[in-house]
Parts: sequence; structure tokens; C-alpha cells
Amino acid sequence: MKEIVVISGKGGTGKTSVVSALAGCGPQKVLADCDVDAADLHLILQPTIQDTHEFWSGELAYIDPAACIQCGLCQENCHFHAISDDFVVLNEHCEGCGVCEHVCPEGAAVMRPRMCGEWYRSDTRHGGMIHAELGIGEENSGKLVSTVRKEAHDLAVAQGVDTVLVDGSPGIGCPVIASLTNAGLAVIVAEPTISAIHDMERVHQLTKHFKIPTMVLINKADINPDLVKEMKKYCQTNTIPLLGTLPYDSRFTQAQVRGESIVEFDPEGIGKLFPPMWDIMLAHAKNTSA
Ligand code: SF4
Ligand code: SF4
Repeated sequence: MKEIVVISGKGGTGKTSVVSALAGCGPQKVLADCDVDAADLHLILQPTIQDTHEFWSGELAYIDPAACIQCGLCQENCHFHAISDDFVVLNEHCEGCGVCEHVCPEGAAVMRPRMCGEWYRSDTRHGGMIHAELGIGEENSGKLVSTVRKEAHDLAVAQGVDTVLVDGSPGIGCPVIASLTNAGLAVIVAEPTISAIHDMERVHQLTKHFKIPTMVLINKADINPDLVKEMKKYCQTNTIPLLGTLPYDSRFTQAQVRGESIVEFDPEGIGKLFPPMWDIMLAHAKNTSA
């Protein structure tokens, strides 16, 4: 199995445009959208949901109004101001610490499993896809990302497909670490701006730490040729293969508006750049087992 993760140091670098373009290159693959905080791959790939699964993680307090004597102890002790004046738990503020349950003399405050979102198994025109949605104000996106990765792997095994293409989480926090775990290749999409270069370097430190083979794809390369030179120098110094450069082009946006990848929208123009890049990625990806 080859699991290839496309990541970026921050959102807005064109990562999802790249993933949607690669989705249609080469033989069928399974797609995984691990950008669960701002999932948008579905806008281009328009998946047909086959089944929906609840995602439960952690705990949430609940106060039974029939048992509550309104003594106020729970509210006084809740450090997160998650209990209203009429002793109702404000779910969006509850951190699941369990203090209210501990202090309640009546057993009225209890901890219950928390439903944080949903994940979906879907079909797209490029193959199966696993994607998810975190509930509003919910956290634990790292755990949801791990679920998406695992389910995508299992779907690939079930379908006899040997490649999973992952739209990874942006940034360098827990969700991106969950996106990268045991990946066979990480492709960092970065644009030539000062902050994006810094983000690229930070995310590269992460892939280096986890010993994941890494490549860099420079997007919107023509907006600042001097910074592109700097990025190439960083890649050279750190022996990171450069996958390629993409121009800044309004056709990416036009394609998105039409719900198409750039390969579908402009197959004889920019779209031509992607199939050779996919072949290079496959050649650099090591096989993974889970
Ligand atoms: S579990 Fe913790 S955060 Fe949630 S309501 Fe109880 S005391 Fe407050
Ligand atoms: S501590 Fe228990 S009884 Fe007292 S207000 Fe809170 S839930 Fe009600």
C-alpha cells in the first residue's frame, strides 16, 4: 500500500486544488480528506455518500434536572464556565473534565460520551473517498483524522486498491501529525511568501522527525521568483526533491467554481503538469503496512 499525504504549513496554499488534480491521475485510488476542520475536497469531487458514521470522542457533562437541587456547587467549580445559571451544561464550553460530576452531592451531574462529528464513506468519479465533518465548536480533530486515515486504508484493502491519496491537515499541530502517521510520502505544497516559506520549513521539520520521505511542490511560483530561488535552495540544502512548480493562474479558481479539478478543466494546459508529477510521487513513495 502506498499512502501519499499532501500537506502545507498553513491553509490557503492550493493544497486541495493539487489533491483534486492528482485524484484523477494514474490508476484508481482511495481518497482521504483529513482537513476535517475545513474540509473542502468534497466541493470539487462531489462525493456520493454511501454511509455515514457517528464520531464519538471524550465526554460531555449532563445535568439531570429532575435530580438537581440547584445548590450551585458544579457551577462554582467549573473552571470553564460551562454551566448556565439555570444549571444546564453549555456543550460548546464543556471540556469534559468531570469536576461537576465529582462535586455534585446528588449525582445529578454525570459524564456521557460525546459525539463530536461524523465521517462518511463515499464514491467519487475518481474512486472511493473517506471524509468527515467535525461538529461546530468540537475539538479532537486529531482523533477524527486518525479515523479517516484508518478507514481510507481499510477501504483501499477492501477494494483491492494499492494507493491512498490524503488531503492532509494544514499546520503543524496534532491533526497534521495524525495525517502523516506512517505515510509513505509527504508532499509539501508551499507558495513563495515569507510566511509560507517559514511554514514550509516547520512542516518539513515534522516530516523529518517522523522519517517520512518528503517532496516540495511550489505553487504560485511566478508571484515572487526571488523567494522561489530561496525555497529551491532550502530544498537543495536539505536534500528534499522538488516535485515541480505551478504558476499562479485563475484557471484553478475557475475549475473550482465548476466543481472540476484543473486536470478536468484544462487538460491541455496546466492540467498536463499533473500526471507526470503523480508518477514521480509514486516512484518516491515507500510502501506502508497500516
Ligand atoms: S465536565 Fe468540567 S467543563 Fe464540563 S461542565 Fe463539568 S466541570 Fe464544567
Ligand atoms: S452540583 Fe449537582 S445538585 Fe448542585 S447544582 Fe450542580 S448538578 Fe445541581
